This record gives sequence, C-alpha cells and structure tokens, in this order.
Amino acid sequence: MEFKLKTLTPIWTGGVRRNDNSILHLTGIKGSLRWWYESLIRGLNGYACDPSNDDKRCVLELKEFEKIRHGGKTKEEALNLLICPACQMFGCTNWGSKFILRIDDNSRSVITSMVKRGDPFTLKFIEKKVFTPYEKKLLHATIKLIVEYGAIGGKTVLKPSEVPNKNCENYSKHNHVDYGLLDYQNISIASNRPSVFTYKLKQNETDWPNLCNFWFVKGAYINRKEHNALVARQSANPKFYEKSATESNLFRGGYIKDNNGCRIIPNDLQPTVENRNLQSSGESKKIFSFHGLTHCDKSRDCVKQDFPPRCFGYGRGATERDNSKNEIERILNGKSIRYEMKTGQEVLDEL
Ligand SMILES: [Zn+2]
Repeated sequence: MEFKLKTLTPIWTGGVRRNDNSILHLTGIKGSLRWWYESLIRGLNGYACDPSNDDKRCVLELKEFEKIRHGGKTKEEALNLLICPACQMFGCTNWGSKFILRIDDNSRSVITSMVKRGDPFTLKFIEKKVFTPYEKKLLHATIKLIVEYGAIGGKTVLKPSEVPNKNCENYSKHNHVDYGLLDYQNISIASNRPSVFTYKLKQNETDWPNLCNFWFVKGAYINRKEHNALVARQSANPKFYEKSATESNLFRGGYIKDNNGCRIIPNDLQPTVENRNLQSSGESKKIFSFHGLTHCDKSRDCVKQDFPPRCFGYGRGATERDNSKNEIERILNGKSIRYEMKTGQEVLDEL
C-alpha cells in the first residue's frame, strides 16, 4: 500500500537532540502512525493496548497461540484472541510488524534526510505479512485522518506564539514553527470508513486517546498564551501551574513523573516538562496547535497564512472533550475568524 503525499511543514519526528532535525526518524513516524491507528481502533469500539507501558502492552503467548491454532481456529482468529489489532499491525513481543515503512521521493529514491516543506513523497507500507481487507481500511482511514485533521509526530508539537512573527521559519529561535502537517499530492483519499469492531480483547483505559473523545478545529489555532490559560498554567511563569489547577487541567497540560513513576504535582510549583521526552517520563499535553505561518516580511507583523491553521485535542471521555471544546469555542469566537469545529465522532463518520 502507498500514499502520495506532500509536506506542508517539515516533518519533525522528535530526534535525539532538540535541534537535530536533519535526519528523518522513521521509527518516530511509525510511532505516530501507530498512535493515530490506536485512537481510531478505540473510536471504533475496539481495544488497542498502550505500547509505552510495560504492564499494558500485548505479548503474543506462543504456546497459547499454538493451542488455539490446533483447536481449529484460523491464524487471524487466534491473533484476535491474544493481541490487539494495533499490535497485529505494528508488532509486539513474539509478533513482528506486518510491514516495513519507507518514504520515497518522486524519483523513487529513499529519502534519508528531513522532508522539507512542500516536498512530495510517497509513504510506502511494504507488506511482510498480508494485510486483511479490514486492516487496509484502517490504514486508509488513519492516513486520511492525519492528513485532513491531524499531524504526524503530533506529540512534539510546539505552541504557536501570540506574537505572529515569532511563528515564522525565519525567526531565529525556531521555537514556534509548525512541524508534521501533510497534504495530498493530487487525489485525496476516498471515504471508506471501517465498520465498528465486533470483538474487544479488553477494556481501554479512559486516559488513552480515543477518537470519539477528540475535538478538531480547522481554520483557527490556539496560541501559547491561550493554551496556558486552558491548562491553568501561570501567565507570568507558564512553567508552573496555578494553585487552582484541576485534575482536568493537569491532564490537558501534561506533567512529569519521578523515577518511581509518581506524578510530580505541578501545583507544588514543580517545573513542567515542555520540550522533554514525555513518552517515558510522564503525560504529554493534550492540545496540539498549528498556525500555518511559514515566513513573513520582517518590517511588518506577519499576517500571511501559508496554509489553513488547525488544532486538535482530546479528553478522558465525552465530558472532558466537551469542556475543552466549549472553552476553545469561547476563545475562537472572540477573534471573529471563520473556523470549523468537529467532534471526533463527526470526523470518524467522514472517514
Ligand atoms: Zn496491543
């Protein structure tokens, strides 16, 4: 399977060092694809494990697998009984990934450096194990979701500045540029929404991303200042949370954990973890925003949008989703701009 895409921004996948964006880390891209694939599975009422958690991720028990196979089940049926659909596609202990991911430019040579803004490329899933028709639908829907509403490498999104020209690529600090937005080269992906899952291995945990609990905005974005207010960070010193920050604010804004896995309570004026690797050390933020500004005339305030801005986020269930959605609508409605806001369910129905 392959998808003809182009980049609207450079692809940034969270390299080893913050400023080292010269090498395209395919493992990072694959991780991001998996994150959206999992969110989609959960949105379709299926189970997808948390691969970043040793206790929660699937392991294919080989003896069990053989036993079920000898009992007359097909390979697919046996897998469905033992590991989640995301692990079936992306792999887990004792079960290798079904594909090799490749990114080719249009001359068909493999791209080894960063994909620059505007560059066309082909995202190739080279099958090592045969994809089922349902898996093909899931993959189609995942790419459609990322291109039309999301971003790739979404966990490392930088916050747009409230000072427009600081968002431009020629602003020396480079700390507010957009990364990870994609577009179709010519033809968009047709709708072919996968049906809801008919089986569920286990229950998903509420704090895992589930497409139904997302909201998506097209045509507007939330800047850093607004973001900090939404998560109850102190306006004078946004590294710290307000004393009044609620449990929902902390979930939205993200936090770190100490070596024992205990949460460092940011209310106690502990620094937060913007710009660190959140995967292993805590919870990432839950609001992701893209301004669409790439360059500007330095003599004036940058107002030119090179592509439509967007933002998205999620909560733990419909209540948190709706609270975020309402608060964001209140901010955006005050700006007299035209934008479109959808729930994850509405987006899901479009896929
Ligand atoms: Zn799994």
